[in-house]
Amino acid sequence: MDYQKIIEEVYQEVQSENKRGKVADYIPELANVNPDQFGIGLVDLEGNVFGVGDYEVPFSIQSISKVHTLVMVFHVFKSKLWSRVNVEPSGNPFNSIAQLEFEKGVPRNPFINAGALVITDALCSKFENPIEQISAYINELSGKSCVRINSSVKESEKNHAERNTALAYFLKAYQNFENEVDQVLDVYFSHCAMEMSCLDLARSFSFLANDGYSIFANREIVSESHARRINALMLTCGFYDEAGEFAFRVGLPGKSGVGGGVAAVMPHKFSIAVWSPELNEKGNSVKAIRALELLTDKLSFSLF
Ligand code: GLU
Repeated sequence: MDYQKIIEEVYQEVQSENKRGKVADYIPELANVNPDQFGIGLVDLEGNVFGVGDYEVPFSIQSISKVHTLVMVFHVFKSKLWSRVNVEPSGNPFNSIAQLEFEKGVPRNPFINAGALVITDALCSKFENPIEQISAYINELSGKSCVRINSSVKESEKNHAERNTALAYFLKAYQNFENEVDQVLDVYFSHCAMEMSCLDLARSFSFLANDGYSIFANREIVSESHARRINALMLTCGFYDEAGEFAFRVGLPGKSGVGGGVAAVMPHKFSIAVWSPELNEKGNSVKAIRALELLTDKLSFSLF
């Protein structure tokens, strides 16, 4: 399979269609990015890397980091985790307060903000220096030191933290939050403000395409059965309230972030990350989603 040729074709087609969206600006610092950037990085299970466009430019991974934090916590708590957070698609905006109240403080899934805050809270309970340990963990998964926290993005989000703060206090009111709200939010904003390139992000997701074994870290990160469950969660909950549409159009487990990135895996074949900052109204990158749709069309396979 000539992955390099295929992703170059996809890149050209997406560029010529030139579909536009809107860069996220509810975190003001994110709006300062050049909206024309677009990159695709793909890694196969032998460790061969393929890339086109801005695939080596670091960008704000935002909610994609929620997959890494989930994996860290899942490993520690195993099935006990699922009494604190559910595994159902939300069908609502990712920062919905109404849904959390309706569900009596047990978030729908670990990828909406309320669920990710529970995961970060659990992480704070178990890890001594959570921010350093998350960075080190992702570096290990990528096989190199590549994670950098953009402090301007972190501060920018901290200064506009009303909704996430409200979600955290709601969780506390329902006794589903163990640590100080400020401490957990600081860790949460730090992992959302991490920057990585498409290539490094694809490397960090590689173990999910490989039954839990990372060829970059040279060890089993999670068991094969945990890897399958994380992929199931990404497929059903990884794209805000557009997860059904992504499964329909693309058919790969993945996770998007409001920085315009999408990381996805084709089990037993490859991991991939695509980035372009302009988003559709659901908060997913217009070009990244289109690129992945064209890719699975050209490959003639997806999960299905
Ligand atoms: N840090 C962002 C927030 O909490 C993450 C959003 C996202 O990428 O989905 O709003």
